[in-house]
Amino acid sequence: MDSPDQAADIDTSRPAAARMYDYYLGGSHNFAADREAAAKVLEVMPDVPLMAQANRAFLHRSVRYLVDAGIRQFIDLGSGIPTVGNVHEAAPEASVVYVDLDPVAVAYSEAILAGTERAAIVHADVRRPEEVLSSPITRRLLDFDRPIGLLTVAVLHFVAESDDPDGILRTFRDALPVGSAVSMAHVTFDGRPDEMDRLTEIYARSANPTTFRTKDRLERLLAGWDLVDPGLTWVIRWRPDWPDDVEGDAAWCGNYGAVGWKR
Ligand code: SAM
Repeated sequence: MDSPDQAADIDTSRPAAARMYDYYLGGSHNFAADREAAAKVLEVMPDVPLMAQANRAFLHRSVRYLVDAGIRQFIDLGSGIPTVGNVHEAAPEASVVYVDLDPVAVAYSEAILAGTERAAIVHADVRRPEEVLSSPITRRLLDFDRPIGLLTVAVLHFVAESDDPDGILRTFRDALPVGSAVSMAHVTFDGRPDEMDRLTEIYARSANPTTFRTKDRLERLLAGWDLVDPGLTWVIRWRPDWPDDVEGDAAWCGNYGAVGWKR
């Protein structure tokens, strides 16, 4: 394999969420089919790159919050194609298990993590949490007697209701010790329902169909986690670095975020 893009199991003819997201963020690990689907998304919502950056900024703020609170181990579900500020870089003192389904995301993660002792990627489907939890990589890197930060940032909206997202999250929570935490970001129909409907149609033809959820539904999904202030809110309103910058309408970001503890 000359480059991670040439891994044998990559279907370049079908758009994939990881590679479309990479395109929104200005990356180069995407193919023509990804760029065509992303272009359709951008026709509907030209501000998607800004939304992706806001999501990424939430990821970083929530990781920083968890590190400041003493978390030194993370499971990053749907970690994506490596880009600026991966979790092991944002939290250099922590061990990180990345998890993704997309072969390009996995191949590039393996490439950048080669030689890194405290971070690795598991090629797995979050809809099968047992496979993530029992992976030899997870068991080698994480100590399940110490708190773990579970990151589900912009991934559970790729899990359909029929795949039981509540059960998936419960299985992860049950496996983690008390004192662990979750950070969740999740795209919603609230605020921009018509545009999100059209995005759902575009993603339905990709490898990763979407199920966007309402705030009420996400509150139920987060049941059992003790949410820190300000609770479940627009990602840009979650403990912003510059609060003055996020006054006014925040619904444009299309994405709710929350952090909660397992007490
Ligand atoms: N978490 C990163 C972030 O917020 O910057 C990347 C988010 S990206 C929008 C969503 C990622 O979830 C993609 O890399 C995609 O391949 C991955 N994904 C989607 N469904 C998945 C599944 N069932 N199991 C594992 N990964 C999945």
